[in-house]
Amino acid sequence: MSIANLARRVVRALTPYQSARRIGGNGHVWLNANEAPLAYPFTIEGSRLNRYPQCQPAAVVNGYAAYAGVNPDQVLVSRGADEAIELLIRTFCEAGEDQILICPPTYGMYAISAETCGVGIVEQPLTPSRQPDWPAIQDRLSDVKLVFLCSPNNPTGDLVGRKGLIKLLEKAQDRAIVVVDEAYIEFCPESSVVDLLARFPNLVVTRTLSKAFALAGIRCGFTLGDPEVIAMLAKVIAPYPIPEPIAQIAAQALSPMGLELMQERVIELNKQKAIIKGELASLPCVKEIFEDKGNFVLVRFDDSAAVFAAMKAAGIVLRDFSSKPGLDNSLRITIGYQGEMDAVLEVLRGLGANNVPADKMSATR
Ligand SMILES: *Cc1c(COP(=O)(O)O)cnc(C)c1O
Repeated sequence: MSIANLARRVVRALTPYQSARRIGGNGHVWLNANEAPLAYPFTIEGSRLNRYPQCQPAAVVNGYAAYAGVNPDQVLVSRGADEAIELLIRTFCEAGEDQILICPPTYGMYAISAETCGVGIVEQPLTPSRQPDWPAIQDRLSDVKLVFLCSPNNPTGDLVGRKGLIKLLEKAQDRAIVVVDEAYIEFCPESSVVDLLARFPNLVVTRTLSKAFALAGIRCGFTLGDPEVIAMLAKVIAPYPIPEPIAQIAAQALSPMGLELMQERVIELNKQKAIIKGELASLPCVKEIFEDKGNFVLVRFDDSAAVFAAMKAAGIVLRDFSSKPGLDNSLRITIGYQGEMDAVLEVLRGLGANNVPADKMSATR
């Protein structure tokens, strides 16, 4: 008997999240995980490392509350937004009994966290205009405890419509919690729904330092919600989830200077995004360019496998979404700095209309 048979059934059957680092790949241009292109220096002071850290480091909680425009008792800091997703499920869903609702195609961790917790998944696909199917979601409210929406949505880049969200929050009051994942909201801050927290105790917003703040390596995320929701999550979270050096770095990122650097980075990446979108639109191998509210753009090609292979040969690593429903032939390109975007365009320009490298076109016909 294999020792693996001792594992829980759901774990034995589980396909783990295909994180960028797990998939691996060879290349020098990493555009597959929506990370920021460059790292920034931080200082770490080591004199307190013999002590356990604070469960909820005050400097980080207060810094994020001030940045997000909420009270500190509306903030929970966790090991990335991924831990926030899992904590919400573990806190509000009874294993083997409750369900969450997701709107695919969307971020993969909602379903994976639910599965590992023994919690069911109701899928309500996005509409053809890639919005949550509001009437259909409302019809399922009595079946689910948590509704996960992603705005901007990874990988399609669309924002969740505010009117539909407000209606859903009204209908869901005292029945279900609606989670809006704002991992990319810094790239379109005017579209945040954080202001709705004051009106709806059943709204929860998740955030991260991994994307616009350029700190994917420290694993630091946030849950914003009603103080009662935050208090429940705080009962479930590990006793010391945020290592002391991480708290120090996060506090620096949330200082006035850290925030200014982040905002400059957003301006630069949004500029690169506008440029590459314009260039992509003129290429014959490009069939569709999706919404672009995050630091990435999903693109449908004639033949995504050929594009993916040509990028790989050039050392450029993209994320392939072509096997996802409705996303055939689509690849997601993280927005990097100008040199990286130029490298992407150079490969694409070398492809013919059918994604056959121009110099091989006659040979294959
Ligand atoms: C990257 C991402 C996360 C995970 O953020 P971490 O803080 O790195 O765990 C959550 N949600 C979405 C939509 C993401 O794209």
